[in-house]
Amino acid sequence: MTQDLTRSTRKLRIGLIANRGHQDAPDSALVQLLRGAKAALQILQPEMIIVGRTLDAIISHGLLECCPVHERFPYGREGGLMKLVSRVVDNDPARTVDAVIYLIDPVDPSSIFPEALALKRQCVIHGKPFLSTLAAAREWLDLEAYALQAPVDTSLDSSLDSSFAFASEGIALIAHDAMKNRMLALAEKHFALLDQFAHRYATGTTGGLLNQLAQKIKGQEAGKHWVQPFLSGPLGGDAQIAELVLDKQIRRILFLEDPHVARQHEADIQLLERAARTVTAYATVISDADGSDRWLSLLTQRAAHPRS
Ligand code: PGA
Repeated sequence: MTQDLTRSTRKLRIGLIANRGHQDAPDSALVQLLRGAKAALQILQPEMIIVGRTLDAIISHGLLECCPVHERFPYGREGGLMKLVSRVVDNDPARTVDAVIYLIDPVDPSSIFPEALALKRQCVIHGKPFLSTLAAAREWLDLEAYALQAPVDTSLDSSLDSSFAFASEGIALIAHDAMKNRMLALAEKHFALLDQFAHRYATGTTGGLLNQLAQKIKGQEAGKHWVQPFLSGPLGGDAQIAELVLDKQIRRILFLEDPHVARQHEADIQLLERAARTVTAYATVISDADGSDRWLSLLTQRAAHPRS
């Protein structure tokens, strides 16, 4: 039986911002997003809150019709991103933002301003998707549109289909200590999906626990090497996984972060995220536990119904 993944009747409200390097070129990440997700956006009809210059760029590309504006936020230097953080944490249904698409250029210094880091962190705390790569944003919009219209609509983007051929895909699974039980519960619930992937990778301790789970499910021998564990995160495992992301061997990273503790290896965590943003059209990082259950459920259903 497939899980019912319909959302409440309120339209999704999405905050949208792109760093300058992702705005202006004719094939910028922003343009690719709005063109590629056109059908999904038509189905979802989201309310868009668009920050400053990102909206100027959308208008100058003639793409406003893909992306009707619900609210314009000020330019970054006037606090647009700070206002977006406030909307993420607001639970008033008239004001709250359900998801943030922030197309981050890893060499843009504004992507590590406090408000940019707080935006991500508050999304994780409040269980809202924070989509910082082109690939993550396109996949998320596709899956949410699919959830609304599945499985009849064939107008969605078939160019994403190859990324749903999990038998030739790699995925990384990482959980901070407080999140390890959540990771194990998710992996058990979505074992059939994760088992389809060509390669599963993890940081050291997470990987050991996942292999124990796989041995319980598949038997001692068959489950022994279910994931390939790298070093533990604090010893450099995140950096080892980042290399495979940069080499396009790992497209999806499920990273259950604990945002409530000081993290000795914060730099390594940021390094991994930056690696994904460096290959923005390819890689996806999913960081919140609630959202990842929905994501894995939708991936399962979507993969069973290719468009083409
Ligand atoms: P671990 O590493 O799986 O070895 O605990 C995760 C992390 O803390 O990054």
